Amino acid sequence: MRALARIAPPLLLATALVWSTVGPAGAAAPPPKVPEAVGWGGAVASVDADATAAGIEVLRKGGNAVDAAVAVAAALGVTEPYSAGIGGGGYFVYYDHDSGRVSTIDGREVASRTADESLFLEDGRPLAFADAVTSGLSVGVPGTPATWETAVREWGRHSLGDALAPARRIAEQGFTVDQTFQDQTALNQDRFKDFPATAELFLPGGRLPAVGSTLRNPDLAATYGQLAKEGTKALYQGDLGADIVRAVQHPPVDPASGRNARPGRVDATDLADYQVRRQQPTHVAYRDYDVYSIAPSSSGGTTVGEALGILEDGELSRLSATQYYHHFLDASRIAFADRNRWVGDPRFSSVPTRELLSERYAASRACLISPDRALTSPLAPGDPRHPADCASYGPAVAEPYEGLSTTHLSVADRWGNVVSYTLTLEQTGGSGITVPGRGFLLNNELTDFDFTPLTPGVPDPNLPGPGKRPRSSISPTIVLRDGEPLLAAGSPGGATIVTTTLQVLLGRLDRGLSLEQAIAAPRASQRNTAATQAEPAFLALPERARLEALGHVFSGTPEIGAATGVERLPDGRWVAAVEPVRRGGGAAAVVRPAP
Ligand code: GLU
Repeated sequence: MRALARIAPPLLLATALVWSTVGPAGAAAPPPKVPEAVGWGGAVASVDADATAAGIEVLRKGGNAVDAAVAVAAALGVTEPYSAGIGGGGYFVYYDHDSGRVSTIDGREVASRTADESLFLEDGRPLAFADAVTSGLSVGVPGTPATWETAVREWGRHSLGDALAPARRIAEQGFTVDQTFQDQTALNQDRFKDFPATAELFLPGGRLPAVGSTLRNPDLAATYGQLAKEGTKALYQGDLGADIVRAVQHPPVDPASGRNARPGRVDATDLADYQVRRQQPTHVAYRDYDVYSIAPSSSGGTTVGEALGILEDGELSRLSATQYYHHFLDASRIAFADRNRWVGDPRFSSVPTRELLSERYAASRACLISPDRALTSPLAPGDPRHPADCASYGPAVAEPYEGLSTTHLSVADRWGNVVSYTLTLEQTGGSGITVPGRGFLLNNELTDFDFTPLTPGVPDPNLPGPGKRPRSSISPTIVLRDGEPLLAAGSPGGATIVTTTLQVLLGRLDRGLSLEQAIAAPRASQRNTAATQAEPAFLALPERARLEALGHVFSGTPEIGAATGVERLPDGRWVAAVEPVRRGGGAAAVVRPAP
């Protein structure tokens, strides 16, 4: 471990990050990470031990699942600042035990009201993806602060300030840098170094933070303090918003770096106009279960739901492992063929959400699956408005590129309320732009738009537009059985979010796995591309050769997703379950352990 000295004189502390070695002044050691916890009083599952502990703290103090979820998310804004935070957006799904209803908050980032289809074109040609990512142009109006405020106001027992309190403390006292944090910083080093405010925060002394050192972020503690006192109007109408607009329109890049960080268009009016959306959740009845998730602008609920509909008649629990994987992969393939053609922000094109989830449409698509032969990609979409067995509708649509960042948290409380919440900055490290003096990164969510139509001549519902939300893959899911909560789950991973969530659900609901086993199982992701991405452990399965004999083609990828979930056992105890290995392992906890 390298000794890290304070890098700012006391007067500058409010605007500088402070590093120190772990010691009396350092962060308390994070609680140990465990992949599964069982007990009473509520449960929290996140990727990070400090964040999970923040949620448990709030539950112990009488907060409910919503208060705890916001506390976990705010803590992740400190300890997972490259994937979560008030500079980004997300989707919040909530089961309220008193009413038995599932509600959602779409806190997706939006493009400026001045944006149009040419947002990412320069001289008529699309910008290089990497140039677009690290720019003000890619920054959408953040939706996360409004999500937190709305959730706590509508359903919480505590105030926003109470929910932010543990995160403020972690930001002030610091957290211990782990290998995952260092690795993610290394991935970003080349661009972080070009933005002085970002480098000061995440590259102390111009170097990667040492594993085991303590990272404090007093700027973020102060920002959370301001939100606690003034509410989110500080951001949507106040000086915090003015700082965001300045950073978007004049990216604070080191002129000596030579980096061309394109300015963005978001202005004070765009911030003032921002509103979360409150639409009905998606719902499919799957065997004995009711599966709820988020409706468009995310494609998560429709795509997971359509795939479940396709698989419903498949008796998955009785199939051989090979046939199970075969059905899972081809159902995903079909659902992605439809998603890429039909799903975008429903305020800008007619998105057939209900039709994509109808049993009739699922049956018309399921008829494509043969037990003897894999489908080939690209597969053409169907027409959910006019289901016809095994029919296609126009040419296949290419699978767009989506970055990988984001974090999912799952929370339950003693009253039986459940939250499934995925929040994101889009890429790991978002746009790379830290708002100077404020301690958080801005998103690059607008790169989730297609820069140009995916397939010439085919309408693309995901082109940029004024005040438009880019299509997401986020799939925060809650499953009920007989009207009672059974489980919540979700994952990061760009478009693989959909397949990971689907695979976890199938593992748990059909294949006899515990939630923890379903999360740990080797993953593959088929998204209507010629090759299915698969983890090394999946490629090592004996079923691989049998799947290849059916025509499946695989390409290796080191890791897919980082899922978390909670489940209610028949006796009322809760299970929290997370990754044992992926992304360094997650952190599961319950209020009163009782294995
Ligand atoms: N921006 C992506 C989406 O909303 C998520 C990125 C990720 O999870 O890695 O679908």
